[in-house]
Amino acid sequence: MLMMATVEDYWTGRIVRLIRLAHLALHMEGIPILGSVVGKKIEQRMEPLDIHPATMDDARSIIEQSRYCAAGSRVCLPLFPGSVVTESVFIDELAEQMAAVKKARPVTKDQAVATLLQYPHNPLVISKVSGRYLEICRSEPETCIYWKIRKTGLNR
Ligand code: SF4
Repeated sequence: MLMMATVEDYWTGRIVRLIRLAHLALHMEGIPILGSVVGKKIEQRMEPLDIHPATMDDARSIIEQSRYCAAGSRVCLPLFPGSVVTESVFIDELAEQMAAVKKARPVTKDQAVATLLQYPHNPLVISKVSGRYLEICRSEPETCIYWKIRKTGLNR
């Protein structure tokens, strides 16, 4: 979910590298001068994602308007193998590609909603992939790059 992510970034696994780089960049944020340059860059790169917290109603609405859904572990999980396991719902072309490479399983719309309902304590985050809201994540705030960026005050 970071930077101008594309569907291809997800099914190839490149997204994991992008998220790792964002975490590294965020660590530099505390360094004077260098930190402010890095911080600006992170901000600019986050913008196209339009990533933000969502409600279950938002998620239901995206799922309802979709033509295909898949569910699977959130994409950043390999970076934090000891963290709480939660899942994401992927939509349309992202869902098709993630299912094709077995990184997610095809689900009905009802199953997609039920998947998200399994993790009520993990905040929902939606983000644009290839310019559309195609990822609905039950995020893990301790490790999620979005929540970490918010804590720094860099984003929204
Ligand atoms: S927890 Fe955050 S960083 Fe990880 S996949 Fe979800 S939205 Fe992306």
